Amino acid sequence: MLRPGLIWLSKQDWAERAARAAGIERLLVRRFVAGDSRGDALAVARRLSQPADGLLGANAKFSFLGEAVTDPADAEQAVAEYCALAAAIGEASPLDARMGVKPTLLGLGISYETAERGLLTIVESADGHGVRVELDMEGSETVDATLRLFRSAAATSELTGVALQSYLRRTPDDAQALIDEGIARVRLTKGAYSESGRIAHSGAGPIRRAYIGLLEQLWQGGADVGVATHDPVLHRAARRLADESTAIGYWEFQMLYGVRPQLGLEMRERGERLRMSIPYGERWYPYLMRRIAERPSNALFALRALAGR
Ligand SMILES: Cc1cc2nc3c(=O)[nH]c(=O)nc-3n(C[C@H](O)[C@H](O)[C@H](O)COP(=O)(O)OP(=O)(O)OC[C@H]3O[C@@H](n4cnc5c(N)ncnc54)[C@H](O)[C@@H]3O)c2cc1C
Repeated sequence: MLRPGLIWLSKQDWAERAARAAGIERLLVRRFVAGDSRGDALAVARRLSQPADGLLGANAKFSFLGEAVTDPADAEQAVAEYCALAAAIGEASPLDARMGVKPTLLGLGISYETAERGLLTIVESADGHGVRVELDMEGSETVDATLRLFRSAAATSELTGVALQSYLRRTPDDAQALIDEGIARVRLTKGAYSESGRIAHSGAGPIRRAYIGLLEQLWQGGADVGVATHDPVLHRAARRLADESTAIGYWEFQMLYGVRPQLGLEMRERGERLRMSIPYGERWYPYLMRRIAERPSNALFALRALAGR
C-alpha cells in the first residue's frame, strides 16, 4: 500500500511544495542527486571513474532531471541541455558516459512528434560526440510510444538504447521484437512505477523470475545488456548466466548514484564493469519520491532528521 501511495505523491504539486518547504532537499536529495548543474554531475563521474586502491573505475550515465513536461519551452530547454551535456562529455574524454532521457521530459505528453523531434536532435548531437543516448522507460501508458521513439532513434544512430521493465507482462514480447530487429541494446530494470496486476507482475519472486527469464532471452538473442538493479539475488543470477554462456554480447552492471554504494564498491573490487546512473538538476522531486518508494526507510531517515532539527 505504501509504494503506490508514494508513487502517487510523486505526481502531486502540493506534496512537492511541502517537501521543499520542509527542507527535505538538504537532508535527502544530495544523497541521490549529484547537484543542480551538469558540472556537478561531471565532477561526480570523474571521481567515480578513477581507478583507486584496487578498485576498477566506474563508468557513468547522466540524467537531466525532469518529466511530465507540458510546456514546449521546457521540452526545448531539456533538448538544449542534453546537447550541451553531449558536448561536455565529448570534451571530458576518455570519460565513458551515456545519457539517459525521459520521453515525457522531451514533451511526449504534448505530442509524439514533439518528443521525436527533440530526441533526434539529441541523438544527432550525441552521435557526433560518440555518446550513447538511452531512453528511460516510464509509466505503462508510455511504453508503445517509447519503443516507437527508440526505433526512430535507432534508425538514426547505433549509439542508442532503451530501458525495459521486467515487471510488465508484455516485456518478453517487446524484447523479442528488438532482438529480431537487431536493435536489442537494453537496460534491464525491474520497473519503478505503480502498475495494475492485470499488466504487471507483483511481489519479489515473480518480478525476479521475470527478470532472469528476460536476461536469458536477451543474452540468447545476442543483446547488449545493462543489468540495472541493486538486487544481489539478480547480481548472482547474472554472474552465473554469464559464466555459463559461451557467446554473450557486451554487458555491465548498472546502479543508481547513492543506492547501496557498498555493493558498487564490491563490484569494482571484483573488477566487474559498473555504470553509475548520475542524475542532476533542480527538478528532483519525482525522482526522489521513487527512490523513497523503493525503500521507505529513506523517508523515515528524512523525517527523523527533520524532527531533530
Ligand atoms: C541504472 C538504473 C536505471 C534505471 N532506469 C529505470 C527506468 O528507465 N525505468 C524504470 O521504471 N525504472 C528504472 N530503474 C529503477 C528500477 O526499475 C527499480 O525501481 C530500482 O532499481 C529498485 O529495484 P531493484 O532492482 O534495485 O530491486 P529492489 O528489490 O527494489 O532492491 C534491491 C536492494 O536494493 C535496495 N534498494 C533499492 N532501491 C533503493 C533505494 N532507493 N534506496 C536504498 N536502497 C534501495 C533494497 O532495499 C534492496 O536491498 C533503474 C534502476 C537502475 C539501477
